[in-house]
Amino acid sequence: MELFERSAAEIARDVQGGTVSAADVTEAVLRHVHAVDGEIGAYLTVLDDVARAAATRVDERIKAGEKLPLAGVPLSVKDNMCLTGTRTTAGSKILEQWVAPYTATAVARMLDAGAIPIGKSNMDEFAMGSSCENSALGVTKNPYDLTRVPGGSTGGSAAAVAAFEAAIGMGSDTGGSIREPGAFCNLVGFKPTYGRVSRYGLIAFASSLDQIGPLTRTVEDAALAYEAMSGWDPMDSTSIDREVEPVSSHLRGDLSGLKIGIVKEFDTRALGDEIDELYDKAYHDLEALGAELIDVSLPTADYGLATYYLIAPAECSSNLARFDGVRYGLRVEGADVHDMYEKTRAAGFGPEVKRRILIGTYALSSGYYDAYYVRAQKARTLIADDFRKAFAQCDLIACPAASSPAFQFNAKSDPYSMYLMDYYTIPMSLAGLPALSVPCGWITPPGGDRPMPMGLQLTSPLFTEKLLLGAAHAYERATQHASKHKPAFDAVSGR
Ligand code: GLN
Repeated sequence: MELFERSAAEIARDVQGGTVSAADVTEAVLRHVHAVDGEIGAYLTVLDDVARAAATRVDERIKAGEKLPLAGVPLSVKDNMCLTGTRTTAGSKILEQWVAPYTATAVARMLDAGAIPIGKSNMDEFAMGSSCENSALGVTKNPYDLTRVPGGSTGGSAAAVAAFEAAIGMGSDTGGSIREPGAFCNLVGFKPTYGRVSRYGLIAFASSLDQIGPLTRTVEDAALAYEAMSGWDPMDSTSIDREVEPVSSHLRGDLSGLKIGIVKEFDTRALGDEIDELYDKAYHDLEALGAELIDVSLPTADYGLATYYLIAPAECSSNLARFDGVRYGLRVEGADVHDMYEKTRAAGFGPEVKRRILIGTYALSSGYYDAYYVRAQKARTLIADDFRKAFAQCDLIACPAASSPAFQFNAKSDPYSMYLMDYYTIPMSLAGLPALSVPCGWITPPGGDRPMPMGLQLTSPLFTEKLLLGAAHAYERATQHASKHKPAFDAVSGR
């Protein structure tokens, strides 16, 4: 196995143990990135020099006797997270040349734990989208079929990890942006509880929903990344001062004693026979591992999408008001200051971002605030209550992560069909719950000639990451779906 193909756990163990240096791992990964990323397009910026300097420092720290849980682990950072001195674009023309003056807390924690920043990864503009096609700065392809999208909005980090251009990808999830690309790229995509990971230095999209988390090839790696990045931060007033339990050393081998809820309203028969059978099999596998399956009901979850598409645009219209040509990024000169604002924002934002700002501004305007925004907040409370009631009966809930495997470029021609991709992930975001996607099988989509991965979503009560990752680990170990097929880029790059 090539160095760059190893898991984060393996790399960290070997670098810590001195059998290989962080510098050697970094050189191997950078060589691989330069060989394949022309095809994949995972990165907007490859940080060769920054990565080499970080690797030298990690090797010195290890020689000095430090213990680093992520020693030498190659890291892909979504381009909405600040890293001092590097371009941080959020996938937008308005920030195309903006260089971050400080480092996001979550990124700083990963680097402090020994991770090596290989590059800044592509994303849907300001994290609005489900396929990475809304990036204003580049195209990212799914490593399992280059004619398909990697998912979004964290498509770049997902593609990077799937194509072995990093072992851990950092993503942000507002309504599904870690879990859906995780499912599309045969990865574990993990969104911790809202407030677990500091958002200081994350370019805000919808602040009551945004959460940072990892994309990895194994549950163990997700646990290691989670331990390194989470915890209270005085720089983020929404981060929670609550102990982060050790997780990576407590991963389970079975599911005995756990009750897993199957949601009555999420009837997978609507997704077609093949997908229905796949999820049926996944639920039975949970049962075979010792879990008791019970039916639960989330009667208001169906309103999740409508609720989210008021709250998220409302918050984005406020958060994105700061990009006006005065302090950050692009400025297009105009006749006066208003003309300058207008020209800057017209040229700097893409169509989906403009659509969201329009919807959000409308929903917050004085005549419509109660009718839209306040009602959406009430619906959000009902959705969270549904989960609370369900968790009185079960420990975890299992459902699909996405309704289909990765689709082809330009397949979703209207915004609404793109929004529907997050049908299963948005309710958990509205409730602030920890949730993850773990590989659960393969489907050859109509018109496709390669099997594509599907993801099982597991979610659990607030702050029960240990339970959630533990259960996912038991499922992963017993089923081994991820290893059944290889990425398609091997054939293309002739590696
Ligand atoms: N696809 C959803 C949206 O477009 C979710 C995005 C996200 O989680 N950042 O808003």
